[in-house]
Amino acid sequence: MTRPDCADVAAALLAPPDGGFRLADADPGARPFFADKSDAAASLKDDAKAIDRLQNALYAEREQALLVVLQGIDTAGKGGVIRTVFNDTGPRGVRVAPFGKPTDLELAHDYLWRVHQVVPPKGFIGVFDRSHYEDVLVVKVRNLAPADAVERRYDQINAFERHLSENGVTVLKFFLHISRDEQAKRLRARLENPDKHWKFNPGDIEERKLWDAYMEAYETALQRCSTPWAPWRVTPSDSKTRRNALIARVVRGTLENMSPRYPSPGWSPDDYVID
Ligand code: AMP
Ligand code: MG
Repeated sequence: MTRPDCADVAAALLAPPDGGFRLADADPGARPFFADKSDAAASLKDDAKAIDRLQNALYAEREQALLVVLQGIDTAGKGGVIRTVFNDTGPRGVRVAPFGKPTDLELAHDYLWRVHQVVPPKGFIGVFDRSHYEDVLVVKVRNLAPADAVERRYDQINAFERHLSENGVTVLKFFLHISRDEQAKRLRARLENPDKHWKFNPGDIEERKLWDAYMEAYETALQRCSTPWAPWRVTPSDSKTRRNALIARVVRGTLENMSPRYPSPGWSPDDYVID
């Protein structure tokens, strides 16, 4: 099959940086570019290999980093994306940072303190499994901070991400968008399948009751924090394979555009003899 252009996928998923994003216009069951599931699987496999090659050059070059932010409601597939898109990438070059409930120490600092510490250094790909966006999502929905403090965070986050992008870190953000029905299916599967019991958290059912409030908070975050330097991509995620394939295309295209170069060693192979 002919693969969709990475740039076309990236453009199609883009939440417009003018604040015009509407969740109602985004269909979590949409199947852009990959009508056929086996095409998606083949594309994903190819891209995972290419991402590994590009990561190797990124590591050798040590000039720039890629930060991939994954956000989505429980069961949206953050873990599945990490497992598949970076399946072929050597563990040396990828750092996954999960963000759970802040510790006392983290709460004693500003909310970006724990985030900045795990931004990937030059040469690395960093993947955020949840992120600083929780501070305008769960924190907003559950009133864990004063409303006016949360309100100021959108601009603060934009400034933070701009700072990163001006300092060698390319920022890619994916909202994994699933429907309420699909979440019900996936939560039920966690109850029914013993191999998935470890993923079940009774708290997820409490969070599900706040579905509408979460969706509103996501919409606001995507309206206010999709910027030219750190755009949001809205990924229809009811189909897991297609979700993974779409994200892999965008990650690959982004790495290609970063065009990491192996450094020139400052010597020639002819300078040495190994006997
Ligand atoms: P999981 O990703 O399933 O391990 O769950 C992590 C939990 O930590 C989720 O319920 C998040 O909403 C929660 N969490 C992450 N960041 C924050 C935060 N800044 N404040 C409060 N809860 C958070
Ligand atoms: Mg969970």
